[in-house]
Amino acid sequence: MQKRSEIVSARRIIVKIGSALLTGGGRGLDKTAIASWVAQIAELCKQDREVALVSSGSVAEGMARLGWKTRPQSLHQLQAAASVGQMGLVQTYESLFRSHGLHTAQVLLTHDDLSRRDRYLNSRSTLLTLLKLGVVPVINENDTVATEEIRFGDNDTLGALVANSLEADVLVILTDQPGLYERDPSLDPTAKLVHQACINDPALSEMVGESRSGLGRGGMVTKLRAARLAARSGAATVIVGGRENQVLTRVISGELLGTFLIPDTDPLTARKRWLAGQLKLKGSLALDDGAVTVLQESGRSLLPVGVVGVSGEFDRGDLVACLDAHGKEVARGLVNYNAEETRLIMRQPSSKIEELIGYVDEPELIHRDNLVLVG
Ligand code: GLU
Repeated sequence: MQKRSEIVSARRIIVKIGSALLTGGGRGLDKTAIASWVAQIAELCKQDREVALVSSGSVAEGMARLGWKTRPQSLHQLQAAASVGQMGLVQTYESLFRSHGLHTAQVLLTHDDLSRRDRYLNSRSTLLTLLKLGVVPVINENDTVATEEIRFGDNDTLGALVANSLEADVLVILTDQPGLYERDPSLDPTAKLVHQACINDPALSEMVGESRSGLGRGGMVTKLRAARLAARSGAATVIVGGRENQVLTRVISGELLGTFLIPDTDPLTARKRWLAGQLKLKGSLALDDGAVTVLQESGRSLLPVGVVGVSGEFDRGDLVACLDAHGKEVARGLVNYNAEETRLIMRQPSSKIEELIGYVDEPELIHRDNLVLVG
């Protein structure tokens, strides 16, 4: 999607709603606001579009249900609150969507579920099946086992990873600000809203103060990072004020609301796109110069013979970085053998794999379909 006007033809949309919006500033769930977003999503579904919803709000709802007035410090209490609140969250969505004749599905995910090849393939096919059935998946982080969102307010990233895995056309991040500003509007009231920008425009980093602050609790830095991730599968991102009247239907009808971030890259093939969006590397392989050239110039698979060093502990199917002689990452991919086996077969021809470890899965250490060049 290269132009904002093309948003009207978006077929698959990911909508992300954060805690601050859902809970009206720290109280329980704001059911009136939620009812309005649900009605808008139902309207989008009627227009023959598929919508998946990434929703936070479980901690806040859990706190309200447990009668806690202040947010606890400890992680296990926050996780407990999330598991209590998730019930309220899905109950709310379920009954509201039902009033529009739509089914919902609860999907709790961790970043791992979207990065491990086996789980990624499973979660993707479940979500695609739900969309094909006309069901609206309601996705949240699985806070019992993962804590990224509790720590970093990072459902923005989850939204982007879902957009990647479903090859969505657009990710709409509803937030408590009208969009992205040229400068921090709380410091400079004359700062203007950015209506549209290309995702690789270096000025964007300056605008969100990326160089100053690290990971915010769901601040503009994580939103911009999410938009960059979403762009890797060719999805546009809209960052927009969630309290704006009829915000979703207006954005999708092409109205100039919020900030529209245009993807710059051509869509990669599905698997390569997914690899490029990975967050967690489990280890690295040091390659000899010959292997680096083969990867970079002929797009071939990585064979054990080209590997001269292994670091990290990884399993078959994990994502590892491939480094050149200077330690620079040249590629990343899903490895066919675990770290221990890789140490045994490195520098060796593939014909010796069976003799060295007792069996052969594949002659390649990383198949070219599971490899993506970096940099
Ligand atoms: N996933 C959690 C939620 O939905 C975390 C949000 C938070 O830390 O407040 O509420």
